[in-house]
Amino acid sequence: MGPNSMSLRMFLVMFFLVSVVVIGTLTYQNSTFRIFEGFLRSNVQGGTSQNVTTHGFGLRGTIQNIKNESLGKEGGVQNPQGTSQNEGRTKNITKADDGSKTASLTSSHAANLDDKLLGGLLTSGFDGASCISRMQSYLYRKVSPHKPSPYLISKLRNYEEIHASCGPNSRAYDRSMREIEHSKNNGVATMCKYLIWNPVNGLGNQMISLASTFLYAILTERVLLVKLEKDKHGLFCEPFLNSTWILPENSTFWNQNHIETYQVMLDKDRASNSTEDLPLALFVNLQHPFFNPEKIFHCEHTQDLLRKVPLLILQSDQFYVPSLFMTSYFDTEITKMFPEKDTIFHHLGRYLFHPSNEAWELIIGYYETHLANANERIGIQIRVFNPESTPKQEYMDLVLSCTLNHKLLPEIGLPNPMSSTGKNHTASVKAVLVVSLYPEFGDNLRTLYLKKTTVSGEVIQVYQPSHEGNQKFNDKMHNMKAWMDIYLLSLSDVLVTSPFSTFGYAAQGLGNLKPWLLSHVKKNDTHSSTCERDFSSEPCYHMPPKHYCNGKLMKDFVSSFPYSRRCKDFYPGMKLGNNFV
Ligand code: GDP
Repeated sequence: MGPNSMSLRMFLVMFFLVSVVVIGTLTYQNSTFRIFEGFLRSNVQGGTSQNVTTHGFGLRGTIQNIKNESLGKEGGVQNPQGTSQNEGRTKNITKADDGSKTASLTSSHAANLDDKLLGGLLTSGFDGASCISRMQSYLYRKVSPHKPSPYLISKLRNYEEIHASCGPNSRAYDRSMREIEHSKNNGVATMCKYLIWNPVNGLGNQMISLASTFLYAILTERVLLVKLEKDKHGLFCEPFLNSTWILPENSTFWNQNHIETYQVMLDKDRASNSTEDLPLALFVNLQHPFFNPEKIFHCEHTQDLLRKVPLLILQSDQFYVPSLFMTSYFDTEITKMFPEKDTIFHHLGRYLFHPSNEAWELIIGYYETHLANANERIGIQIRVFNPESTPKQEYMDLVLSCTLNHKLLPEIGLPNPMSSTGKNHTASVKAVLVVSLYPEFGDNLRTLYLKKTTVSGEVIQVYQPSHEGNQKFNDKMHNMKAWMDIYLLSLSDVLVTSPFSTFGYAAQGLGNLKPWLLSHVKKNDTHSSTCERDFSSEPCYHMPPKHYCNGKLMKDFVSSFPYSRRCKDFYPGMKLGNNFV
């Protein structure tokens, strides 16, 4: 055996070893993929989807979507110019083999990335499987006539970079937090600055205040972190690429008792007129002044002070954006970001609030089963604030006269001969989505339209996804149902909402809907109007400031709050609108 046969043998041995490694790796990858696939299937079809399958929701297309999206990221979703029954709504709902309706990805490759990313509002690069709704919401919602401005898009991309470099799990986060927690030097300038949002009240209140706080974070270049308790963890997807917005569990700022309050800072400032003594962390409670004295948060001097504090914990239950216009720098910036002033919650809400996969299954399952086939969808939100003092029948009467007077629903005619015999398959169908804590409203309306025909010949189908009885706390499934209700309402073509309810505000803003606002229920009141059309889809700011920064009572409301008008549903409140003449 010479050197040549030696190297041949070496070559054969090497070839054998490399082959074994390659085959082994491929087999492993395949089985990993199958395990992943199995995981997706069991997650979507079993487990959390118990509710879904009992309603008979077909989710095959959704699973297909998950796989395509996870493999191809955003590029994997196609928009096959579906069969929309309603103008503007881009649907690609097709029939699957088993007859169930699914959002199919297979019918076309004409992916419209711009539609999916909501005109550039959303960034690309997310792993599609982690948040299916982010890339599918455009299939179910009408295309918004409001495009985000290039300036808003650039501010969002800039914010995302700040969040990625200063957010949890970054070195800058660890370093800045260490300095904020331990530095003896109050005036220290940390690498990153933070804004921790503290939730209060129900989901609607939380969504509108969180959107306001996100805008404040963008304006002040702070990293937004949220104290989402466990009962709200599974509701929304992470909104920021490659990072989390949830305040890490080990943060000392979950507890704010040891932190200086905004009120103390203002008092010290008034007494000494010096900014040397500013704390490193500050708790700012902006909850409405029913409970707290006026906050002068919107004043330039206050903002100058706050700019020097590296970490703020902010608590609010309001859509306080209108007051930000009172600070001249914010005014300039917000005006550039939102040339249309009545789209602030609409854009920020659609940017931030994407249903988690678990929530999306419930929402889309319900939508496909009950609402997708209707010619029109009417959402009716009935919020009863004082059930003990006002009989439900008064609310029911109000809803009926509003919807009938304004021809949102047809008048009732003769007894329905089909009610016991079957369905009229040719008539135009209106699906009515009733959303309330109480089952009576959906039940009564359904019974009414089941027993009688309508004078217009339309078929009215009434659905109510849940009836929780009362607001519950620390209950994840309760919050999930609330989120499902808000999202489904936002998919309506026509919306009727209850006055003073932030639950309705969140839905109207996401859906860009100017709702029909029900009047306040007043006992034995037969004269007043039952509802009127709102002038904007923005939330009402219930408790705007009443004083100028010099302490004088505000007289000229309109010049103090540009682009705002009094809310129709709550007197001291104000809301943003566009093109007031
Ligand atoms: P608001 O009190 O009407 O301004 O709305 P919030 O959302 O801030 O608080 C009300 C809370 O009560 C919600 O978060 C839910 O927990 C519950 N709730 C009120 N109305 C409904 C409803 O129609 N459906 C469901 N699922 N929950 C509701």
